[in-house]
Amino acid sequence: MATEETKYDVIIVGGGIGGGALATVLARAGKSVLAIEKSTAYRDRVRGEWIAMWGVEELKTLGLYDDFIAAGGHHLTRHINYSDEHTQEESEAAEIPLGAMTPGVPGPMTIGHPASCNLLNELAQKAGATVLRGVDDVKVNVGESPSVSYLHDGSWHDASARIIVGADGRGSAVRKALGIELHIDEQHHLFSGMLVENATGFPDDLQVTGSENDVHFLVFPQGNGRARLYLGYPSDQAKRLAGDGGPQAFLDAFKLKSLPYSDAIVNSTPAGPCNSYPNQDAWTDKPYAQGGVLIGDAAGYNDPIIGQGLSITYRDVRIVRDILLANDHWTNPDIFAPYAEERAERMRKLRFAAKMQSIYHNEFGAEATARRKRASDRRTEDPTLQLPLIATLIGPDKVPAPLFDDSVLEKLFGTPAIEEFTSGAHL
Ligand SMILES: Cc1cc2nc3c(=O)[nH]c(=O)nc-3n(C[C@H](O)[C@H](O)[C@H](O)COP(=O)(O)OP(=O)(O)OC[C@H]3O[C@@H](n4cnc5c(N)ncnc54)[C@H](O)[C@@H]3O)c2cc1C
Repeated sequence: MATEETKYDVIIVGGGIGGGALATVLARAGKSVLAIEKSTAYRDRVRGEWIAMWGVEELKTLGLYDDFIAAGGHHLTRHINYSDEHTQEESEAAEIPLGAMTPGVPGPMTIGHPASCNLLNELAQKAGATVLRGVDDVKVNVGESPSVSYLHDGSWHDASARIIVGADGRGSAVRKALGIELHIDEQHHLFSGMLVENATGFPDDLQVTGSENDVHFLVFPQGNGRARLYLGYPSDQAKRLAGDGGPQAFLDAFKLKSLPYSDAIVNSTPAGPCNSYPNQDAWTDKPYAQGGVLIGDAAGYNDPIIGQGLSITYRDVRIVRDILLANDHWTNPDIFAPYAEERAERMRKLRFAAKMQSIYHNEFGAEATARRKRASDRRTEDPTLQLPLIATLIGPDKVPAPLFDDSVLEKLFGTPAIEEFTSGAHL
């Protein structure tokens, strides 16, 4: 039974990263905004906590950067890839100075996902948006007169708006209401994450990736001994990190010869859940329809192996904000056509970069190690082969489109590896 009806310029379903950021910037621009969020408290669900330099640039453009720094945003300034195909000295000689790659950006930023959501939620309310938490059973109606109904505080509510934004993550209800199909890649490997504290001795300014034995390992410090750790591992080891022993098994996997700070990680303290996800990419052809537009994971999500989801989401927020502020005719869905076109190419490039990273770091065994060594040598001979991965730091728009092509993978890895990836034979 509906008890009230309220009219807004914009209703945003989902008050996480994308929803909180868009609610803030639209409310700051004078729009009336209702954001409805399912959870009553943001919990660590093992989500993105590393923002690439191009995502930090987006935070600056959105006017959110100073708020993130004040809330504990921590910059990393160096990257080292420690892998079994190189000695530690060789790896350190190839250190990447992250602080020197994007003018005005000291490097990628790390900050907890719940902390980011809390911050954006507060900023949205401060800017004048109505933000409701603990909203359930959301029903979305799109078309020429968009509206939502939802359960909140024990009663039903209706609200209408000029447009509905779906910022409700991977399983988006708004995407379903808009009738938009999600395309999902095959899983390549498994990917697990855990937050730790007391990683004493691990340099706070250094991010590390690498592969050894049957793991791809990643370490992203957040300051004061906190770090977000990730592990890529083969799909046939689905039970490897399951159950009560999972967190310890996760830490033990960092006992690695190639990682000089291995002890600091192995002896750190779990500070959150240890969850695993399939490594796969998902996309939509057109993230809008009459009455609604999708942003962030709802519009299609990149394979988490290259940590792009936050940067993708902040760019979505900026583009959708600019379109809404520049147009009065929100009933015409085609105002979002430039967004769809830009996003499709952005996601194509990042899907390619994730595939490159998956073959390079997340195939295991003697043959894969030898291939990694060969690919590393080829990248040294021809640095352009490295550019699709550099795009994940500086932004996909800054690297020319022809480099995101299977011919580049063939140069790096040879034809059999590509055929194997495409056929799923490594699974
Ligand atoms: C293992 C893993 C590691 C990752 N690592 C990184 C990384 O290092 N860097 C990076 O940039 N990205 C990373 N990502 C991706 C990143 O976390 C996401 O792309 C990003 O959080 C997307 O933001 P969002 O706002 O679209 O979705 P979310 O952050 O998921 O927010 C969606 C919100 O919608 C709410 N919601 C859902 N359904 C409803 C509903 N029906 N009604 C109301 N509310 C609803 C949810 O409660 C949630 O708060 C990672 C992802 C995974 C899985």
